[in-house]
Amino acid sequence: MRLPVFVLAATALALPAYGDEVNIYSYRQPELIQPLLDAFTAETGITTNVAYVDKGLVERLKAEGRRSPAYIILTVDISRLTDAKEAGVTQTVDSEILDGAIPAALRDPEGHWFGLTSRARIIYASKDRVGEGEITTYEDLADPKWAGRICTRSGTHVYTLGLLSAAIEHNGLEAAEGWLKGVKANLAKDPEGNDRAPVKSIWAGECDISLGNTYYMGAMLEDAEQAEWANSVRIEFPTFADNGTSHVNVSGVAMTASAPNRDNAVSFMEFLSSPDAQAIYASVVYEYPASPAAKASELVASWGDFTPDDTNLTAIASHRAQALQMVERVDFDGGAGSGG
Ligand code: FE
Repeated sequence: MRLPVFVLAATALALPAYGDEVNIYSYRQPELIQPLLDAFTAETGITTNVAYVDKGLVERLKAEGRRSPAYIILTVDISRLTDAKEAGVTQTVDSEILDGAIPAALRDPEGHWFGLTSRARIIYASKDRVGEGEITTYEDLADPKWAGRICTRSGTHVYTLGLLSAAIEHNGLEAAEGWLKGVKANLAKDPEGNDRAPVKSIWAGECDISLGNTYYMGAMLEDAEQAEWANSVRIEFPTFADNGTSHVNVSGVAMTASAPNRDNAVSFMEFLSSPDAQAIYASVVYEYPASPAAKASELVASWGDFTPDDTNLTAIASHRAQALQMVERVDFDGGAGSGG
């Protein structure tokens, strides 16, 4: 039987091209994930290659189609994960290990993506001008007592749309719109910049509270100039009034629809959900491990305890179009303090 031998040999020859690697398209800086990749290779012998893809990750995968070398995408924010799924560039992964490690709220019900770390969208409050416990809910942000005291980034940014989508999920469309108008009426200045700019504004005395993601506290502390801004504020975890939870979003992983070797991709995804990998990853990005089996770093834990919203992120993401229309209707980014 010569033929089967030949077939085997041909298969063996073909393997090195796809056999021992995992190619990753990452929205995250490669240096942030390198320690993880090294640990994965040490454990499995599978090598990794990372292409940093800042914008247009979905478009790139679509253009490459079935010829794409990518096995895995690593990205941040529920909107980018759901966009990838909707664009058809991901595939389902059915893994007991992943399902067991990642809470249901932080993964796609069909297995198209899995959250790896979570970040809460919280309030940065001036240590000097805001008392502890003075603001406890997201709904409070619309209270006239904060008139002229709030700074935030653009209403059309995915982080703001995520929070507003969560407000719609919790309180309904009408209440969410009233709330958004109330927050706008309280703005000290038109929304601008990223999540750090409003903290700088608090430091400069232009406002007293801002909305931001938790990890920016860690990121600002790393920078000599920004550390001053960070040290002028305290993190307060607001909750939704109806159930006392805080809004969280995720960074996550998905397998591409065209992954050349499914087994390697699954191995990599399962590795990322392991307690050790979770702890390493969450610590370098100042986020919370998605897996309850892993602990947040000391710095991140020092910001305080909170109850993350357990509403599935897919349900929250389903309100994104409504949220964007609402931001535009209210003209959230223009005429600060006017109430829309
Ligand atoms: Fe960010």
